[in-house]
Amino acid sequence: MAKDEHSDGGASPESRRWTRPRQIVALSLTVCLLALALWDLALRGGHPIASSNYRPNWLAITALFLVAEIFVIHLQFRREAHSFSLAEIPLVIGIFALSPFGLIAARVVGSGLALVVHRRQSGIKLLFNVSKFTLETAVAIGVFKLITDGGTSGEVPTWGAATAATLAATALSTVLIVMAISISEGAWQRGTIRELLGLGTYTTMVTTSLALLAVTLLEHEPWQLAAMLVPVAGIFVANRAYVREREKHESLEFLYDSSRLLHQTPALESAVEGLLYRAREAFRADLAFLFYQPSGDAELLHTAIGPLGMAASLQPAGAALAAMCRSLQAADEAIELGDDALSLLATVADGTPLTDAIAVTLQGEDRHMGTLVLANRVGQVSPFDASDRRLLATLGAHVAVAFENGRLEQSLAELRALQQQLSHQATHDPLTGLANRKLFTDHLRVALSESDRGVGVVFIDLDDFKAVNDSLGHAAGDAMLVAVAERLRTTIGSHNLAARFGGDEFAVLLRAGHHDVERLTAQLYDAISQPISLGRDQVRPRASLGVTIAEPGVLDPAAVIRDADTAMYRAKSQGKACVEIFEPAMHEAAMARHTLRIDLERAIHRQEFELLYQPIVHMHSGAPAGVEALVRWRHPTRGVLPPAAFLALAEESNLITEISRIVVEQACRESVQYDLGFVSVNLSARDVEDRHLPTLVRDILHSTGLPPERMVLEITESAMLNDADKAAHALEQLKDVGVRLALDDFGTGFSSLSYLQHLPFDLLKIAKPFVDDLRLDHNQTVFPRAIIELAHTLGLTVVAEGIEHPEQIDVLQELGCELGQGFYIARPMEAAALLDWQAE
Ligand code: C2E
Ligand code: CA
Ligand code: CA
Repeated sequence: MAKDEHSDGGASPESRRWTRPRQIVALSLTVCLLALALWDLALRGGHPIASSNYRPNWLAITALFLVAEIFVIHLQFRREAHSFSLAEIPLVIGIFALSPFGLIAARVVGSGLALVVHRRQSGIKLLFNVSKFTLETAVAIGVFKLITDGGTSGEVPTWGAATAATLAATALSTVLIVMAISISEGAWQRGTIRELLGLGTYTTMVTTSLALLAVTLLEHEPWQLAAMLVPVAGIFVANRAYVREREKHESLEFLYDSSRLLHQTPALESAVEGLLYRAREAFRADLAFLFYQPSGDAELLHTAIGPLGMAASLQPAGAALAAMCRSLQAADEAIELGDDALSLLATVADGTPLTDAIAVTLQGEDRHMGTLVLANRVGQVSPFDASDRRLLATLGAHVAVAFENGRLEQSLAELRALQQQLSHQATHDPLTGLANRKLFTDHLRVALSESDRGVGVVFIDLDDFKAVNDSLGHAAGDAMLVAVAERLRTTIGSHNLAARFGGDEFAVLLRAGHHDVERLTAQLYDAISQPISLGRDQVRPRASLGVTIAEPGVLDPAAVIRDADTAMYRAKSQGKACVEIFEPAMHEAAMARHTLRIDLERAIHRQEFELLYQPIVHMHSGAPAGVEALVRWRHPTRGVLPPAAFLALAEESNLITEISRIVVEQACRESVQYDLGFVSVNLSARDVEDRHLPTLVRDILHSTGLPPERMVLEITESAMLNDADKAAHALEQLKDVGVRLALDDFGTGFSSLSYLQHLPFDLLKIAKPFVDDLRLDHNQTVFPRAIIELAHTLGLTVVAEGIEHPEQIDVLQELGCELGQGFYIARPMEAAALLDWQAE
């Protein structure tokens, strides 16, 4: 009974029961005050309350109160115990033998002592009970006095008055107890007051009659008092039998309730919770746990109800508790748990320390289905006993039957479905429903570890997807992604996996050998390229595919994905819309690209770029007309790099606009400094898209003092492919600055001369391959001639590039080409060197 010693201070169940201790203290003090008032009004005086010839001493009556309070019958109301005592007997005897003060003192000392010593009550509870004894006794005395005004024993009115007095005391005590229970339960217990009053009236009448008999015997034949022990014991036994019956009835009611709960509540999770709540009440336990073992080798789950309510609902219980439940399976009845089990259980009980617990294994037909545990018995009256364990065993059997019916399995399946849905959201792309990068990587990791013939990964990047988004809108872009996703899914079949990594990047995991991977990749390429209708437009998606086949033994999914990505990158740089298979050299190239990129960033800060100028001359006279600025990168370790070595990378990583700014600025400055005629500067596609370019050029021209008409900006056809309207607009703005525009590398792209009509070009540069042709024989001049003639009709000046031989000059002169450049005329050179060249 150690727990009672600190029960009022700590967080033990005992003190928690008095959840509203202040209200109980207030109630007790009010009761005390009432007792005092009564005392003052009617109870003063040292004479016995009623006159009687027999005077048993005060100690004897006090002892009787003590005994009566020890042999009580406890009646359980919800989680509170109420006790019936035979205290009416000493009370009635006392009325006839003691002074009001003496009787109250005997009651308080006798009953109080029983509470302290026998029932180990203390604190608020003791205060309440002692106050109650005081008032109860005072009321009994008051009522008796009011009716008899000091009658003698043995007379009928005195008997009536004594009965009225004890009934009043019982009624008062009942009301006070129900008030206290109501306060601690937080709700008015109307049913309890009715039941208690009924029972109280009956026992009080019986015991009062016995007490009056005793009084009479004491007056006349005290030795015959012994005969009364039999009826007194009889009443005691009868009362206790009644209480047992009542408890049995309540247990049955509880079992009936709980099986109804288990079988009728549609969601079994809530049925289990409801059951645990009911069980907690029925067993007067503070905590209830249900461990559930789903079929198969699934994890043990637990639902826990603590003093604060639900602590967990069908949550994984962990290995330690699973082991504990297994260790209980040997017992085939409900058992009391030991300290180890108690401290284990505390871990799933909101941290509430466990003091005592009983448990039963839920035994299904062919397997253990779990364990039901009730812990921390409420109230100090009685610990869990054999009848509790019997009740728990019966309950356990009921629960096991309910589980066996598969209801919990079914609702667990629903729970799992929900969890699956949640994890689906975390691992899938919401737009296309494909796996995301994380899930893909997870699957790839497993596939790599299991494969014995290799795993194929295809990295897919749509070509020019940005153009679709820009020109047809995002909805069309999304529709295209969804369509492509669907094509991937249907092409690869169900045992392979397609994922969207984001944007227009996809990846496919092929659990197949070399041959099948190549076949499937070709099918993927074809499937993606089928036309798609987006609203009124028909679009043919294009994609660059990179493939890698991880040999058995390769285990790092990130490395495999990176290889496929590298191969895809190669496909892009091979002109897009193709498939490339990974080779280790590609990886080295990718690594080199990576370091180069870092170097490039640094080069911008350190001004590592310089310009060479290639003279452009008048074809008829050979006189210098201007220069083309050609960028070089003086790399700190690799020497001077040509544009081909770094411009593509600069475009990709958006460093190109920075470089262009440097080039434009330097070209303007040096062209003023060395008086180079006009200076032609190359722009990239990205520059044309840059909204700030016209202002930038205007500002640089202004600050360097180069007249706008001495600047030519060269743009290749491919720079205008993405969005012709946008490009036209950008060119117009550059024209507004006052510079001239040249269409570079004409003939290598897809454009026709007709579209030149709508673009504000001033010059057209014939690409080197056409100029090369000019020296073979005159039949090859057909195409260059047509270009030059058409250019002239459009009012464009023609520049021939890559002149390497003198005979080319003759032909070009004949064809009427105005300007020319090439190694035969002059190689690109530093600005300072141009002066010498001109002087030659
Ligand atoms: P491009 O605009 O067609 O420039 C002409 C290229 O042909 C230059 O190569 C030049 O050195 C070379 N070349 C000139 N005459 C002959 C010849 O007779 N025979 C041969 N085989 N080649 C000749 P470079 O300097 O390597 O430039 C390559 C490309 O890089 C340029 O082609 C241009 O598109 C781009 N580029 C150069 N500088 C810049 C720049 O500052 N910005 C941008 N965006 N691109 C640039
Ligand atoms: Ca050029
Ligand atoms: Ca060119």
